[in-house]
Amino acid sequence: MGIGDPAGILDVIERGIDMFDCVWPTRLGRTGTALTWEGRLNLKNARFARDQAPLDERCTCPACERFSRAYLRHLVNQSELLGLRLLTLHNLCFLLELTAGARRAIEERRFASYRRDALERVARAKEEAA
Ligand SMILES: [Zn+2]
Repeated sequence: MGIGDPAGILDVIERGIDMFDCVWPTRLGRTGTALTWEGRLNLKNARFARDQAPLDERCTCPACERFSRAYLRHLVNQSELLGLRLLTLHNLCFLLELTAGARRAIEERRFASYRRDALERVARAKEEAA
């Protein structure tokens, strides 16, 4: 319980835990933040005002398939519940993708390299966002 960030999830999976629960990804979504492989995107930031890209190019969630970062930013800044719901949905999809990748990696006996690569991507994204 209380494990919801990518590093924490991969840490507990490595220890054999396969069930976790946390408000973090949904709380982030409700406060206008999206989890992506580029790091966390705070859509309240003005740099997204004209950004026509989806939250994550590879994501297949309804938010990414149908809406731009600029439109989602507009919804968030207007306190439209649709925007907060779409970000919440996206964040859950991101973590499902992360854990599905972990499952595949375990089945293919390459979890250590998957974990290392995923954490490097997230860390690199944090550095670039800083
Ligand atoms: Zn998405």
